Amino acid sequence: MSLRTITQLRTITQKGPMHSIDDLHELERALHSGLTGTSQVVDEYEAALSGLYGIKHVIAVSSGAASVTAALAGVDFQPGDEVIVAPTGPICTVLPILSLGLVPVFCDVAPDSFGLDPQDLQRCIGPRTCAVIEVPMWGYPIRSNETLATMRQAGIPLIQDLAHAHMTRLNGTWLAQHGDISCFSTHDCKFISTGEGGFVMTDDDDRARRIRAYTRFGNLTGESLGINLKLGGLQAALGLARSRQLYSHLERRMRNRDLLLSMLDNPAFRELPVVKGGAVNAYSLLLQSVGHDGRQLVHYQQRHGIESDIGKYDNQPLYQLPLLTRYQRDCPNAARLLRSLTTVPLHQNLLDDDLHYIAKVLNDYSPD
Ligand SMILES: *Cc1c(COP(=O)(O)O)cnc(C)c1O
Repeated sequence: MSLRTITQLRTITQKGPMHSIDDLHELERALHSGLTGTSQVVDEYEAALSGLYGIKHVIAVSSGAASVTAALAGVDFQPGDEVIVAPTGPICTVLPILSLGLVPVFCDVAPDSFGLDPQDLQRCIGPRTCAVIEVPMWGYPIRSNETLATMRQAGIPLIQDLAHAHMTRLNGTWLAQHGDISCFSTHDCKFISTGEGGFVMTDDDDRARRIRAYTRFGNLTGESLGINLKLGGLQAALGLARSRQLYSHLERRMRNRDLLLSMLDNPAFRELPVVKGGAVNAYSLLLQSVGHDGRQLVHYQQRHGIESDIGKYDNQPLYQLPLLTRYQRDCPNAARLLRSLTTVPLHQNLLDDDLHYIAKVLNDYSPD
């Protein structure tokens, strides 16, 4: 079969369909026992996540954006205070900062990494810095432990937006354990899906209390600010069922990743380097073009029916978006990184045949 024929037959999406008997069982149980955000099933879901990650408090919320908003509610700030963040994440992380009347300060990333550059981070820290948010994209670990050490010295909390980094590891523990507060999304396109949803995790009792109160109208006491960011019972039921599948999904994704990597032999690109001591979650495979503009590779794979997240997030630093140009700060590593990347799906519903197709398409790529 010629490549052209295969191409016409195939679309490799970021995510395949999936639901299990266990999902249906938990949904039915929730239908009987409670649908609100304060029902038993939500407690069970939070306890399951807390056990999995070894982190004391988990607060289930209605979205990833809600998780970032709620995390900031666990931090002391005045309106106009600053939050340091890399310009390589999605705008979803920055909009909650703006919505709370805070100011994003864009810090450059380290070369070939989504982690903050230690030197630029020092330059960004100022008297009004109230938090740092790191966003490890597509499940690739970053040196959160080093950022955490810097921030501990400065007395400023480190929030991690781990929407892409469920089960990503660093030095033998979850990346989530290397920060003060971790945020997750369980949107349908993420590593674990509840349709819409998210959660926040922290070991700190006081921050946990404030975060939970914020998601429940300040516990309705009228003493502190809050809105309703609770996750509903049905979503929590799905999350509970799916939290039990996290290890098997990780295994399947890692297997897909190993198989695909073993077949790729095109010197026009390489995998983005994985930091020493880190382990990816195989949410996506990140390929970095060598010696040419990576957008060529993005467009090429899309023409062959293989979706790339870069097409969605676009590969330009966030401060180029209209809402954010006033916060522009020169971040050359970030701009270079984004220009060089594409993502390739690795999800658990891909067949070996799909992976062979992806490998063939990518091995046939040759930049102009
Ligand atoms: C998806 C995503 C969000 C937003 O999550 P929603 O559940 O869609 O609100 C925030 N941050 C990052 C890094 C994301 O990938």
